Amino acid sequence: MADLTNRSLADLEFDNRFTNELPADPEADPQATGAAVRPRQVHGAAYSWTHPTPVAAPRLIAHSPEVVEMLGLSPDVVETQQFAEVFGGNELLPGMQPFAMCYGGHQFGNWAGQLGDGRAIALGEIETPHHGHQTLQLKGAGPTPYSRRADGRAVLRSSIREFLCSEAMHHLGVPTTRALSLVLTGDQVVRDMLYDGHPAPEPGAIVCRVASSFVRFGNFEIFSARGDESNLRLLADHAMRVTTPSLEVGDYLGWFQAVVDRTADLMVHWMRVGFVHGVMNTDNLAISGETIDYGPYGWIDNFDPGWTPNTTDAAGKRYRYGHQPQMAMWNLAQLANAIYPLVGDAEPLQAALDSYRDRYLSGWDQAVAAKIGLAPPAGQPVPEAVAALTGSLLDLLTKVETDMTIFFRTLGEIERAHLATSDDRQLVAPLEHAYYSPTERSVEMIAETSAWLRSYGERIDALGVSDADRRSAMHAVNPKYVLRNYLAQQAIDKAEMGEYSMILELLDVMRSPYADQPGREEYASKRPDWAREKVGCSMLSCSS
Ligand code: AMP
Ligand code: MG
Repeated sequence: MADLTNRSLADLEFDNRFTNELPADPEADPQATGAAVRPRQVHGAAYSWTHPTPVAAPRLIAHSPEVVEMLGLSPDVVETQQFAEVFGGNELLPGMQPFAMCYGGHQFGNWAGQLGDGRAIALGEIETPHHGHQTLQLKGAGPTPYSRRADGRAVLRSSIREFLCSEAMHHLGVPTTRALSLVLTGDQVVRDMLYDGHPAPEPGAIVCRVASSFVRFGNFEIFSARGDESNLRLLADHAMRVTTPSLEVGDYLGWFQAVVDRTADLMVHWMRVGFVHGVMNTDNLAISGETIDYGPYGWIDNFDPGWTPNTTDAAGKRYRYGHQPQMAMWNLAQLANAIYPLVGDAEPLQAALDSYRDRYLSGWDQAVAAKIGLAPPAGQPVPEAVAALTGSLLDLLTKVETDMTIFFRTLGEIERAHLATSDDRQLVAPLEHAYYSPTERSVEMIAETSAWLRSYGERIDALGVSDADRRSAMHAVNPKYVLRNYLAQQAIDKAEMGEYSMILELLDVMRSPYADQPGREEYASKRPDWAREKVGCSMLSCSS
């Protein structure tokens, strides 16, 4: 087999499974003859051929060295101007066959009809040394037939957020699409950031996303809604080959069960690290079980199940932190409806759907038990006494503004001997910096927290866990560094002034989220007061 490592761009061989296996829009790509793209409804096809629209002055401002390596590229390819030209959409490599996918979706609970890749253009697929096939996709590369009334572009602020969070999530161990590069286009993009009638030009950028599959729940829904059963079947067969190669093609129920399981596991991950996606529409959930489409997402600072970063969702808070597991199940129900014609029997689909709840709940119980260092041995259920302890802790965390990340990280540092402290104030003292308003904490809250810490100590004794083991187990699952909204916003503010170093610094910090990084404590501190109500830090719109 050919050596797939240390390749130059010219060495890449494109082998495009999605477009080879599925039907293309019969309407020719107008850009192939220099004409403009026309937004339209596309029937009977999984995608349309399209081209990135060239940009003025592509400049690479950040890249992920791990993704460069994953793709089998030589580390120095990023230093060539050709890299910026290719991943800025100005140059196609031989074998690249750019296309945009057709999909539909339920947005905020309502069927929205055809959506599709309105500003994402896949360039092609390559074989990688150790990660199978991967698709390279540009986000913000110009209009496609699915752009509806929009421009197909992306602004720098949202591109920085997508680039950094994709990589941060990966290093946290959360399944996600990856980000290869962040290219400044040299063009301006006009956006009304707050939807308040003040459109303004902003710098444009393009992120190259990488994933084994970009197929969303909505790819199935569009065929189903249009009664296109033959394409529905072709797509399911393709999805099975790519995402569940161990199953026999045609085992649609087995495949759906795998999607249910992965989605439940993904929700456990989001919840355990405090990630809020913000727009869990069915076009933004991937069948691979990977996090996809980083828009107005956020990280909870204080543990508030009701929090959403998305101003567009402020009224109903459909996609608030604590509601995400339920919304994923709602989306799975839409996927089950969409593939019903392939199965022809509702009962087993319903049974697979019903299994979601147990899988999520047991996964979550295990995750929280692990967060307090009392996870049972692999394969065993969480003992009732530990579940009771985690339940009362989560309740406690919502009662006063408590920083989730700092609380769990600090709890792992507290030694068993300290948990025997008889004075309440002294007992809770090591956790003080996890609270947003320490002075407002009442005597009752301190007593309640102390009582919890004492029962935690008893449980540690009952299970015979040593301080060293508990600390290392907890530090392996409780990140010290997460991409707090205000940190990303600071990097954005600087980048908009032409200073890009904080993007690189944050990328580097987020590469080792579970390690103590001496000298980088500032990236682990809780949200400062100025960021509480600031645009970009506490709230974001979909305008990106
Ligand atoms: P989102 O909620 O960001 O996932 O986007 C929903 C739909 O709108 C998808 O079909 C996107 O491709 C499309 N879309 C969002 N922003 C743009 C844009 N600037 N240009 C074209 N299409 C867009
Ligand atoms: Mg989307």
